[in-house]
Amino acid sequence: MEEIRTTPMFQGQADLFLSDYECEKTIVCPDEKMKTLSIKSLRVCRFCKKKFGEVTFQKEAHIFPVALGNEFLISNFECDTCNHKFGSYENDLCRYLGIERTFNRTPGRKNIPNFISDNIRATKESIFDQPGAIKIEPNNGQVIFGYDEATQSRTITYKKRPYSPINVYKAILKMALCCIDKSDVKSYDLAFKFLTTTELDGKFKPCYLFGYRVPGNYDVFATLYRKRHSSLKTMTHTFILYYGSFMLQIFLPFNTDDRNHYPHFQLPIMPPLFDGSGDEKWMPHYTIQDDVSSPEKRIDEEEVIRIKVDPEHLDKIVGIDPITREVVNRRAFPSEVSGLYLVDKDFKLPISLPKAD
Ligand SMILES: [Zn+2]
Repeated sequence: MEEIRTTPMFQGQADLFLSDYECEKTIVCPDEKMKTLSIKSLRVCRFCKKKFGEVTFQKEAHIFPVALGNEFLISNFECDTCNHKFGSYENDLCRYLGIERTFNRTPGRKNIPNFISDNIRATKESIFDQPGAIKIEPNNGQVIFGYDEATQSRTITYKKRPYSPINVYKAILKMALCCIDKSDVKSYDLAFKFLTTTELDGKFKPCYLFGYRVPGNYDVFATLYRKRHSSLKTMTHTFILYYGSFMLQIFLPFNTDDRNHYPHFQLPIMPPLFDGSGDEKWMPHYTIQDDVSSPEKRIDEEEVIRIKVDPEHLDKIVGIDPITREVVNRRAFPSEVSGLYLVDKDFKLPISLPKAD
């Protein structure tokens, strides 16, 4: 029996999930260019079903977005027209992920993306002449920093840029439909129609994102699970995308084998994958259960990021004048923060701090 690495708290959920589903494949990005793609003149688009000649296959079609750090995992069955359409879904997915790509310093097509929205700016900056930090500051004079006594965390409350929820679902569905076996493509005719048109929007009821934000930092990869018996009242496939601190699970819609169970589906949720650090208090930051069936844009959606601070450390904080580089010995209050720099773990301040007593 396969296992899912999770903590005791989620073991029951893992058992339930595995009683319905077994892992069909894990999809990771290769480290170098793939060499086994078919010649272009033989290609057929899996999505619009058109052949080479009717459509072109000029562009490299990435299975996971380049914006999530996928450089080499590409397919030979996505035409340029469909590729262009899916690009707009991916934009909405990136907006849903908010500041995550900047925090993770995912390079994407060009550089690490800055993140600027209505109330926040997160940009690459040097600090003490060392490049590679991310500077976070309020935009338009709004208050974004706070301190939450209950969880002993610094908080950053920021607004995402507007996005269409159903396009977020479709961006992930596109990846999933790239990952299914060729022999399953026929059973998903309606799912392809749902993906490439707006005609079936609203027809698939559990059009939800499930999952977690975990205290981890995944390079993009995914897992595809298949239900163990066709009689189970779950959907044939469920797909889980991992990126940064996100685990995002969708159920694949409209498989012909699932028709008999409609609309009384059970939706077993994958438990959060434990990072294996041995920390008994390991917990996901929060659970995601989000109805993303609407094309209506979400505007100014807020997200709160919590950065845990050891209260003992709060007492030890000192100030450094960035110009004179002198250490100012006074307690700094979280409410006074006007900007934050995120730096690498091995970052060293180029000044000597007074010795602790
Ligand atoms: Zn196509």
